Amino acid sequence: MSDIETKNIIFLDRDGTICVDGGAFQSHDYGSYDNLINNVILVEGVEKSLKRLKEKGFLIIVISNQAGVAKGKMTESDVHRFNEKLNEKLDNLIDGFYYCIHHDTGEESDGRILYGDKIIKELIVDCDCRKPKIGMFKQAEDDLRNGKIQTIDEKFLNSTIIYDKSRNIYKKSINKILINKNKSYMIGDKLIDTMAGINYGVKSFLVLTGEGKAEYEKSKSINNKVYDKCFEDINGASNYILEELV
Ligand SMILES: [Mg+2]
Ligand SMILES: [Zn+2]
Repeated sequence: MSDIETKNIIFLDRDGTICVDGGAFQSHDYGSYDNLINNVILVEGVEKSLKRLKEKGFLIIVISNQAGVAKGKMTESDVHRFNEKLNEKLDNLIDGFYYCIHHDTGEESDGRILYGDKIIKELIVDCDCRKPKIGMFKQAEDDLRNGKIQTIDEKFLNSTIIYDKSRNIYKKSINKILINKNKSYMIGDKLIDTMAGINYGVKSFLVLTGEGKAEYEKSKSINNKVYDKCFEDINGASNYILEELV
């Protein structure tokens, strides 16, 4: 029999928030996606910040758009390997990874199609998971509520849940968890991140790493609320969250 517990969640964007943007794949000379994976660069201080949040009982779940899969830039298994490498660097502080591999057009924001015939037509769809939509939050919520997770890997035992989407298995059995939205947060470097958080109903913080500065400028011409607060980086956001708890 499993118990039901309520948890506060930190939902995090990945690229540009925890680590150097995957866009760096194009703008820097990584050569291959393998090189990018082998050279995951963390935002400075992120490990310490996530550790402190973990100590306060937060679950940490990554919610990431990875349209590069639909666009033919990398494979889903590349995304998985990147996530694994990232979590290794973070001492497995991240409890779950959810990602969207779809895109509605396959085009870059300037209309170009970069990877030509590598594009995967089945993944060019208007899905429910791509941020600012909330499909990934909902899926995490369902999974946590169902606690349908199997333990297979000892190294993850200190982590509450690891979701391995590429193999479609869950690595750790846990109690049934309900999300306390009032004390849960979304942190990201793009307005689609913060808007997704707002759409889902958690507090949303914009960080100025990654695309953050340009997105902050963009936000000035938008009348609706697109984020709750803005911070220099994930460490600033984490400090605020920890202070807010007191
Ligand atoms: Mg990002
Ligand atoms: Zn999707």
